[in-house]
Amino acid sequence: MRSTMPDFPLTITSIMRHAAGVFGDREVVTYTGDGYRRLSYHQLAREAARLAGALRGLGVDADQRVATFCWNTTEHLTAYLAVPSMGAVLHTLNIRLFPEQIAYIACHAEDDVVIVDASLVPLLAPILPEMKTVRHVIVAGEADTAPLAPAGKDVHDYRTLLDGAPDGFEWPELDERAAASMCYTSGTTGNPKGVVYSHRSTYLHSMSVCTANAMGLSADDRVLPVVPMFHANAWGLPYAALMAGASLTMPGRFLQAEHLARIIAEERPTVAGAVPTIWGDLLRHARRHGSDLSSLRLVPCGGSAVPESLMRALETEFGVRVVQAWGMTETSPLATVAHGDSWDLRVTQGRLLAGVEGRLAGIGDALLPSDGVAVGELEVRGPWVTASYHRDEDGSRFHDGWLRTGDVGRLDPRGYVTLTDRAKDVIKSGGEWISSVELENALMGHPAVVEAAVIGVPDERWGERPLACVVLDGDAGVGELREFLSGKVARWQVPERWAFVEAVPKTSVGKFAKRALREMHARGELTVVEG
Ligand code: ADP
Repeated sequence: MRSTMPDFPLTITSIMRHAAGVFGDREVVTYTGDGYRRLSYHQLAREAARLAGALRGLGVDADQRVATFCWNTTEHLTAYLAVPSMGAVLHTLNIRLFPEQIAYIACHAEDDVVIVDASLVPLLAPILPEMKTVRHVIVAGEADTAPLAPAGKDVHDYRTLLDGAPDGFEWPELDERAAASMCYTSGTTGNPKGVVYSHRSTYLHSMSVCTANAMGLSADDRVLPVVPMFHANAWGLPYAALMAGASLTMPGRFLQAEHLARIIAEERPTVAGAVPTIWGDLLRHARRHGSDLSSLRLVPCGGSAVPESLMRALETEFGVRVVQAWGMTETSPLATVAHGDSWDLRVTQGRLLAGVEGRLAGIGDALLPSDGVAVGELEVRGPWVTASYHRDEDGSRFHDGWLRTGDVGRLDPRGYVTLTDRAKDVIKSGGEWISSVELENALMGHPAVVEAAVIGVPDERWGERPLACVVLDGDAGVGELREFLSGKVARWQVPERWAFVEAVPKTSVGKFAKRALREMHARGELTVVEG
């Protein structure tokens, strides 16, 4: 029997209509470094119509890719709405990648137009000539555009273009399965791969973000996405906030702790998402300056393992509840969220959200039990989990329709995922596996340790042994740190090689760049102390 319900398309256009219609008085606020720019959702939808009209005027009339090279701003949010809703495809470029990678990605995606923040013009200018398919560049904000000229593209001013466009736009009827936006993986593990989200997957993912098992967003919330809008759609927070009628506060390019502390104290967001390194910085700043973080009811945190010490400190000292989440560009990104009434549960990567299925695969692809004990590679599938990569025939990342995540860990019968490592970061010592993440988390619990990254280095006897690269703020010697670790991890796992560094190199999205550390070690650039 057929249902009586229509195949009503789930589109970003309908998210926009809902936000502008039902929650037209809610606002998007962009921090400017010395103040704030405000725009209601009602006005935002009008801006989106103008942007769509302007893009149409530049010849965007089908599924052309419109790229953004922007911080989190009102203009970026406008593109989030206008581009997919007009039937084109939004491509958020990661400004922190190497220039060659950005050019590669822009060519691979065949970007037609690029919208760039004025402050990022100097960064884009040298790459632009290599972005072969790009015809138009739209500059948002006041900038010296002379450096863009040699690339021979048409350069436009965002405001002039929008002021010349009509207030309304005839939004087309869209197929919910059509491409809405795309994002490339940050390439921590190799060449960036393109993931293309549909209207449907974005809509369903946004609804999931709004559920109480995820972030429980509502019209009472004010959401601060610190995580960049070019990093897996800022974890889906912008679309989810629009759907929930929550206001959005955008930090612009001001991601340093003193600016974030000011934004939180002044704009009083209730939900703020950022990677652990940002929260670590903010915690230290807040301790020094007695910052007011009391408006935050929920801080979703992920992208890499969240140290328990960080969660506990923010909660006990500032009343801020950090909730760990796990996901990837490939999973839109939210797949698990670690709610729970005990720390045992909250230190996991989280529980599978409705819609996302998970399982573990072991050696030779044999499936392992989800018993909370077996360790294997996590595989997932679901309506917002990609089933292929854009223009890429390599099927090796998929296993009978499941995505191989490259993450290793355990899955328990209640759907809680505990990751012990990335497959390539696991340290293989004498036939046993040592989790680099467990060592790092344990080390970062020491009061003098600011950051710790552990890599596997060649060892004649054991094959590989851990090398702990530690950033100190205070006094602690190797002996003390080894002593601190024993009792927290098995004795044989305690590193005997140590390097005290000024900073741990980070990837473009703020994760420990362990590949860079391994290369530094191979070149003899790390001073290793044995103890
Ligand atoms: P890339 O794969 O290029 O780093 P992503 O930003 O998509 O790009 O990263 C996804 C990966 O980040 C996951 O596969 C996982 O290894 C890591 N990750 C995300 N959240 C967590 C978390 N809470 N704990 C541990 N690792 C995480």
